[in-house]
Amino acid sequence: MTINAIVWGENVHEKTNKTVGELYPDGMHTCIAEALNKDPSIKASTATLQEAEHGLSEERLKETDVLFWWAHAAHDEVDDAVVERIIEQVWSGMGLVLLHSSHFSKLFKRLMGTPCGLHWREAGERERLWVTSPNHPIANGLPDHFELEYEEMYGEPFSVPEPLETVFISWFQGGEVFRSGLTYKRGAGNVFYFRPGHETYPTYHDDNIKTVLKNATHWANNPQSRRAGMVDAPNRSIDQVLEPIEERGASLHAPGEEGFK
Ligand code: ZN
Repeated sequence: MTINAIVWGENVHEKTNKTVGELYPDGMHTCIAEALNKDPSIKASTATLQEAEHGLSEERLKETDVLFWWAHAAHDEVDDAVVERIIEQVWSGMGLVLLHSSHFSKLFKRLMGTPCGLHWREAGERERLWVTSPNHPIANGLPDHFELEYEEMYGEPFSVPEPLETVFISWFQGGEVFRSGLTYKRGAGNVFYFRPGHETYPTYHDDNIKTVLKNATHWANNPQSRRAGMVDAPNRSIDQVLEPIEERGASLHAPGEEGFK
């Protein structure tokens, strides 16, 4: 079955910075979507900040299996209502892949519930990613380590909750290390944070990075939960008990009250 993916891009620095515009003339989101579409089982489209509802209407999100998110300069411009809408879809089983500086997006911070801070340095230094979970599906087909000649440094401590799995750890020329590939579960949704992707470097043209993004799409896809929808837990009244019980003690709620079943 085809996996429907949306690659969401903030699409700001592509328009305002010459280097970024030259590296990604159609935007990073288009470059990433093109890489995903090389996989015949993935159908990737794009959405950007500038579109109405940021290109993420309720109807469109409901048809989406995996959403990619790249953002840096305009986190505050993302509508809170759209963020909440995405989070509800994640709880209902939509996969979410957060890239690079999306660590400071409203979306990621809301899902993590922690500051999501880190050290950083923009010096075009070499990054070496070590695969720390070689049997993980996101690491499928990768060597035991690979390098990006130019990257921004992100350094620990990274103030996120302890992940379910750490798939990559990065080393930087300046000496810092960083947990670069982290998995989480939020509701029924599979969430993956992947560190590389600074916009002034050609990271999304790298074959190993493309492999990770394709693998992450398959890993985050969760069709079974997606069909079941969000878990609802309404009041379970005394006439629904499995073993007879006698109602006793004071009660705040009365039969017939709104919301009472
Ligand atoms: Zn960056």
